[in-house]
Amino acid sequence: MDLGLKGRIALVCGASRGIGFAAADELAREGASLAICSRDAGSMQHAVTRLASRGVPVLPIVADLGTVEGIAHARLEVMARYGRADILITNTGGPPTGQTLEHDWAAWTRASELLLRSAVELSRAFVPGMRERRWGRVIGITSLAVKQPVASLVLSNALRAAVTGFFRTLANEVAADGVTVNTVLPGYTETERLEALAESTTKRTGATREAVYNGWKAEIPMARLGRPEELGAVIAFLASDRAGFVTGQAVLVDGGGIGSLL
Ligand code: NAD
Repeated sequence: MDLGLKGRIALVCGASRGIGFAAADELAREGASLAICSRDAGSMQHAVTRLASRGVPVLPIVADLGTVEGIAHARLEVMARYGRADILITNTGGPPTGQTLEHDWAAWTRASELLLRSAVELSRAFVPGMRERRWGRVIGITSLAVKQPVASLVLSNALRAAVTGFFRTLANEVAADGVTVNTVLPGYTETERLEALAESTTKRTGATREAVYNGWKAEIPMARLGRPEELGAVIAFLASDRAGFVTGQAVLVDGGGIGSLL
Protein backbone atom coordinates (compact mmCIF):
# COMPACT_ATOMS: atom_id res chain seq x y z
CA MET A 1 0.00 0.00 0.00
CA ASP A 2 1.39 3.42 -0.94
CA LEU A 3 0.73 5.60 2.08
CA GLY A 4 1.11 8.79 0.06
CA LEU A 5 3.76 10.19 2.36
CA LYS A 6 6.45 11.10 -0.17
CA GLY A 7 7.39 14.75 0.18
CA ARG A 8 5.47 15.23 3.42
CA ILE A 9 7.35 16.86 6.30
CA ALA A 10 7.02 15.08 9.66
CA LEU A 11 8.10 16.37 13.06
CA VAL A 12 8.48 13.32 15.30
CA CYS A 13 9.07 14.12 18.97
CA GLY A 14 10.85 11.84 21.44
CA ALA A 15 12.37 10.11 18.44
CA SER A 16 15.89 9.18 19.48
CA ARG A 17 14.72 5.71 20.56
CA GLY A 18 11.71 3.56 21.39
CA ILE A 19 8.29 4.20 19.88
CA GLY A 20 9.19 7.66 18.56
CA PHE A 21 12.20 6.32 16.71
CA ALA A 22 10.15 3.48 15.26
CA ALA A 23 7.55 5.98 14.01
CA ALA A 24 10.27 8.13 12.41
CA ASP A 25 11.79 5.08 10.77
CA GLU A 26 8.47 3.96 9.32
CA LEU A 27 7.69 7.46 8.00
CA ALA A 28 11.17 7.62 6.45
CA ARG A 29 10.63 4.25 4.73
CA GLU A 30 7.51 5.78 3.20
CA GLY A 31 9.49 8.76 1.87
CA ALA A 32 8.58 11.50 4.36
CA SER A 33 11.22 14.12 5.23
CA LEU A 34 11.91 14.18 8.94
CA ALA A 35 12.59 16.49 11.83
CA ILE A 36 13.31 14.36 14.89
CA CYS A 37 13.54 15.78 18.35
CA SER A 38 14.80 14.56 21.71
CA ARG A 39 16.63 15.86 24.76
CA ASP A 40 19.78 13.88 24.40
CA ALA A 41 22.40 14.83 21.76
CA GLY A 42 24.24 11.48 21.91
CA SER A 43 21.24 9.27 21.30
CA MET A 44 20.02 11.69 18.61
CA GLN A 45 23.23 11.21 16.67
CA HIS A 46 22.76 7.45 16.93
CA ALA A 47 19.20 7.80 15.62
CA VAL A 48 20.34 9.96 12.69
CA THR A 49 22.93 7.33 11.77
CA ARG A 50 20.31 4.56 11.87
CA LEU A 51 17.92 6.59 9.69
CA ALA A 52 20.57 7.47 7.09
CA SER A 53 19.95 4.34 5.01
CA ARG A 54 16.35 5.43 4.34
CA GLY A 55 17.65 8.20 2.07
CA VAL A 56 15.35 11.00 3.24
CA PRO A 57 16.35 14.35 4.78
CA VAL A 58 16.60 14.14 8.58
CA LEU A 59 16.85 17.26 10.75
CA PRO A 60 17.95 16.40 14.31
CA ILE A 61 16.75 18.80 17.00
CA VAL A 62 18.05 18.59 20.54
CA ALA A 63 15.40 20.15 22.78
CA ASP A 64 13.71 19.50 26.09
CA LEU A 65 10.00 19.55 25.22
CA GLY A 66 9.16 19.85 28.90
CA THR A 67 10.24 23.49 28.68
CA VAL A 68 8.89 26.55 26.85
CA GLU A 69 12.37 27.22 25.44
CA GLY A 70 12.67 23.67 24.11
CA ILE A 71 9.32 23.88 22.32
CA ALA A 72 10.21 27.27 20.83
CA HIS A 73 13.58 25.91 19.69
CA ALA A 74 11.98 22.88 18.01
CA ARG A 75 9.49 25.11 16.21
CA LEU A 76 12.20 27.51 14.99
CA GLU A 77 14.41 24.68 13.71
CA VAL A 78 11.59 23.06 11.75
CA MET A 79 10.49 26.36 10.24
CA ALA A 80 14.05 27.38 9.34
CA ARG A 81 14.75 24.09 7.55
CA TYR A 82 11.39 23.14 6.03
CA GLY A 83 9.06 26.12 6.49
CA ARG A 84 6.27 23.83 7.69
CA ALA A 85 5.30 20.51 9.23
CA ASP A 86 2.54 18.44 7.61
CA ILE A 87 2.66 15.72 10.25
CA LEU A 88 3.14 16.26 13.98
CA ILE A 89 3.79 13.32 16.30
CA THR A 90 3.77 14.49 19.93
CA ASN A 91 5.73 12.24 22.26
CA THR A 92 8.13 12.49 25.20
CA GLY A 93 9.33 10.16 27.89
CA GLY A 94 6.82 9.17 30.52
CA PRO A 95 6.57 10.86 33.95
CA PRO A 96 8.02 9.31 37.15
CA THR A 97 6.34 6.46 38.99
CA GLY A 98 5.25 6.75 42.62
CA GLN A 99 2.40 6.20 45.05
CA THR A 100 -0.65 8.33 44.34
CA LEU A 101 -0.31 10.79 47.24
CA GLU A 102 3.47 10.92 47.15
CA HIS A 103 3.92 13.48 44.33
CA ASP A 104 3.93 17.11 45.45
CA TRP A 105 2.51 19.86 43.26
CA ALA A 106 5.93 20.60 41.77
CA ALA A 107 5.99 17.03 40.44
CA TRP A 108 2.47 17.44 39.02
CA THR A 109 3.53 20.69 37.37
CA ARG A 110 6.60 19.10 35.78
CA ALA A 111 4.55 16.16 34.52
CA SER A 112 1.89 18.52 33.12
CA GLU A 113 4.56 20.51 31.35
CA LEU A 114 6.09 17.37 29.90
CA LEU A 115 2.90 15.65 28.73
CA LEU A 116 0.15 18.25 28.39
CA ARG A 117 1.94 21.51 27.63
CA SER A 118 4.14 19.90 24.98
CA ALA A 119 1.06 18.51 23.20
CA VAL A 120 -0.81 21.82 23.44
CA GLU A 121 2.05 24.14 22.46
CA LEU A 122 3.35 22.00 19.61
CA SER A 123 -0.19 21.85 18.23
CA ARG A 124 -0.52 25.61 18.59
CA ALA A 125 2.75 26.02 16.70
CA PHE A 126 2.03 23.72 13.74
CA VAL A 127 -1.71 23.11 13.31
CA PRO A 128 -2.60 26.62 12.03
CA GLY A 129 -0.26 26.09 9.05
CA MET A 130 -1.79 22.68 8.37
CA ARG A 131 -5.27 24.24 8.32
CA GLU A 132 -4.15 26.94 5.88
CA ARG A 133 -2.71 24.29 3.55
CA ARG A 134 -5.83 22.15 4.01
CA TRP A 135 -3.87 19.01 4.93
CA GLY A 136 -2.38 17.86 8.17
CA ARG A 137 -1.97 14.96 10.56
CA VAL A 138 -1.54 15.18 14.33
CA ILE A 139 -0.88 12.04 16.34
CA GLY A 140 -0.42 12.15 20.09
CA ILE A 141 1.32 9.22 21.73
CA THR A 142 -0.39 8.52 25.05
CA SER A 143 -0.77 5.19 26.86
CA LEU A 144 -3.05 2.25 27.61
CA ALA A 145 -3.50 4.17 30.90
CA VAL A 146 -6.18 6.18 29.07
CA LYS A 147 -8.32 3.03 29.05
CA GLN A 148 -7.25 1.55 32.38
CA PRO A 149 -5.09 3.18 35.11
CA VAL A 150 -1.69 1.58 35.68
CA ALA A 151 -0.55 1.04 39.31
CA SER A 152 2.03 3.58 40.56
CA LEU A 153 1.63 5.76 37.48
CA VAL A 154 -0.91 8.33 38.65
CA LEU A 155 0.84 11.19 36.83
CA SER A 156 0.50 9.32 33.57
CA ASN A 157 -3.02 8.03 34.33
CA ALA A 158 -4.36 11.52 35.04
CA LEU A 159 -2.47 13.58 32.49
CA ARG A 160 -2.89 11.25 29.50
CA ALA A 161 -6.62 11.68 30.02
CA ALA A 162 -6.16 15.45 29.81
CA VAL A 163 -4.07 15.10 26.65
CA THR A 164 -6.77 12.88 25.13
CA GLY A 165 -9.44 15.46 25.95
CA PHE A 166 -7.35 18.18 24.31
CA PHE A 167 -6.79 16.22 21.10
CA ARG A 168 -10.38 14.95 20.90
CA THR A 169 -11.65 18.53 21.10
CA LEU A 170 -9.11 19.80 18.58
CA ALA A 171 -10.05 17.01 16.15
CA ASN A 172 -13.58 18.38 15.73
CA GLU A 173 -12.41 21.98 15.26
CA VAL A 174 -9.94 21.25 12.48
CA ALA A 175 -11.60 18.30 10.69
CA ALA A 176 -13.23 20.38 7.95
CA ASP A 177 -9.81 21.82 7.05
CA GLY A 178 -8.36 18.41 6.12
CA VAL A 179 -6.46 18.00 9.39
CA THR A 180 -6.94 14.75 11.31
CA VAL A 181 -6.08 14.40 15.00
CA ASN A 182 -5.75 11.01 16.67
CA THR A 183 -3.98 9.45 19.61
CA VAL A 184 -2.13 6.14 19.76
CA LEU A 185 -2.15 4.21 23.05
CA PRO A 186 0.81 1.86 23.41
CA GLY A 187 0.38 -1.22 25.53
CA TYR A 188 3.45 -2.83 27.10
CA THR A 189 6.13 -2.34 24.45
CA GLU A 190 9.78 -3.42 24.53
CA THR A 191 11.61 -0.10 25.00
CA GLU A 192 13.99 1.47 27.49
CA ARG A 193 11.01 3.11 29.18
CA LEU A 194 9.55 -0.32 29.95
CA GLU A 195 12.90 -1.49 31.31
CA ALA A 196 12.93 1.53 33.65
CA LEU A 197 9.38 0.67 34.76
CA ALA A 198 10.45 -2.93 35.43
CA GLU A 199 13.32 -1.66 37.56
CA SER A 200 11.10 0.61 39.66
CA THR A 201 8.54 -2.20 40.06
CA THR A 202 11.20 -4.64 41.30
CA LYS A 203 12.32 -2.01 43.85
CA ARG A 204 8.77 -1.34 45.00
CA THR A 205 7.50 -4.92 45.19
CA GLY A 206 10.63 -7.05 45.65
CA ALA A 207 9.61 -9.19 42.65
CA THR A 208 12.33 -10.28 40.24
CA ARG A 209 12.68 -8.57 36.88
CA GLU A 210 11.61 -11.79 35.18
CA ALA A 211 8.48 -12.01 37.34
CA VAL A 212 7.59 -8.41 36.48
CA TYR A 213 7.88 -9.08 32.74
CA ASN A 214 5.96 -12.35 33.06
CA GLY A 215 3.22 -10.49 34.94
CA TRP A 216 2.85 -8.02 32.06
CA LYS A 217 2.83 -10.80 29.47
CA ALA A 218 0.18 -12.67 31.46
CA GLU A 219 -2.16 -9.65 31.01
CA ILE A 220 -1.83 -9.84 27.21
CA PRO A 221 -3.73 -12.45 25.15
CA MET A 222 -0.82 -12.55 22.70
CA ALA A 223 1.41 -13.48 25.67
CA ARG A 224 4.19 -11.19 24.50
CA LEU A 225 5.18 -7.54 24.60
CA GLY A 226 4.72 -5.17 21.69
CA ARG A 227 7.60 -4.27 19.42
CA PRO A 228 8.28 -0.56 18.79
CA GLU A 229 7.97 -1.11 15.01
CA GLU A 230 4.42 -2.43 15.52
CA LEU A 231 3.55 0.95 17.03
CA GLY A 232 5.49 2.77 14.31
CA ALA A 233 3.43 1.07 11.59
CA VAL A 234 0.11 2.17 13.11
CA ILE A 235 1.38 5.72 13.61
CA ALA A 236 2.59 5.89 9.98
CA PHE A 237 -0.79 4.68 8.73
CA LEU A 238 -2.61 7.34 10.75
CA ALA A 239 -0.20 9.92 9.30
CA SER A 240 -0.94 8.81 5.76
CA ASP A 241 -3.26 9.98 3.04
CA ARG A 242 -5.01 6.62 3.32
CA ALA A 243 -6.22 7.44 6.83
CA GLY A 244 -7.94 10.63 5.66
CA PHE A 245 -11.36 9.76 7.19
CA VAL A 246 -10.00 8.66 10.58
CA THR A 247 -10.07 11.42 13.17
CA GLY A 248 -10.76 11.90 16.87
CA GLN A 249 -9.80 8.29 17.59
CA ALA A 250 -7.78 6.79 20.43
CA VAL A 251 -6.11 3.77 18.85
CA LEU A 252 -4.96 1.08 21.25
CA VAL A 253 -2.01 -1.10 20.19
CA ASP A 254 -1.70 -3.56 23.06
CA GLY A 255 -1.93 -7.17 21.83
CA GLY A 256 -5.48 -7.35 23.17
CA GLY A 257 -4.47 -6.50 26.75
CA ILE A 258 -7.36 -4.16 27.61
CA GLY A 259 -10.39 -6.38 27.93
CA SER A 260 -13.21 -3.87 27.30
CA LEU A 261 -15.53 -4.03 24.28
CA LEU A 262 -14.61 -0.51 23.10
P1 NAD B 1 11.43 5.87 25.82
O1 NAD B 1 11.73 6.38 27.18
O2 NAD B 1 12.07 4.59 25.38
O3 NAD B 1 11.75 6.99 24.74
C1 NAD B 1 11.32 8.31 24.96
C2 NAD B 1 11.91 9.26 23.94
O4 NAD B 1 11.51 10.58 24.29
C3 NAD B 1 13.44 9.28 23.90
O5 NAD B 1 13.85 9.58 22.59
C4 NAD B 1 13.79 10.45 24.82
O6 NAD B 1 15.04 11.05 24.55
C5 NAD B 1 12.66 11.40 24.48
N1 NAD B 1 12.35 12.36 25.54
C6 NAD B 1 12.15 12.09 26.86
N2 NAD B 1 11.90 13.22 27.52
C7 NAD B 1 11.94 14.23 26.60
C8 NAD B 1 11.80 15.64 26.68
N3 NAD B 1 11.54 16.24 27.85
N4 NAD B 1 11.94 16.37 25.56
C9 NAD B 1 12.23 15.78 24.39
N5 NAD B 1 12.38 14.45 24.24
C10 NAD B 1 12.24 13.68 25.35
O7 NAD B 1 9.83 5.75 25.76
P2 NAD B 1 8.89 4.80 24.86
O8 NAD B 1 8.75 3.49 25.54
O9 NAD B 1 9.29 4.88 23.45
O10 NAD B 1 7.48 5.52 25.10
C11 NAD B 1 7.04 6.66 24.41
C12 NAD B 1 5.83 7.19 25.16
O11 NAD B 1 4.83 6.16 25.23
C13 NAD B 1 6.15 7.60 26.60
O12 NAD B 1 5.42 8.72 26.95
C14 NAD B 1 5.70 6.38 27.40
O13 NAD B 1 5.37 6.72 28.72
C15 NAD B 1 4.48 5.96 26.59
N6 NAD B 1 4.15 4.53 26.82
C16 NAD B 1 5.09 3.58 26.65
C17 NAD B 1 4.77 2.25 26.93
C18 NAD B 1 5.77 1.14 26.79
O14 NAD B 1 5.46 0.00 27.18
N7 NAD B 1 6.96 1.38 26.24
C19 NAD B 1 3.46 1.92 27.35
C20 NAD B 1 2.54 2.94 27.49
C21 NAD B 1 2.89 4.25 27.23
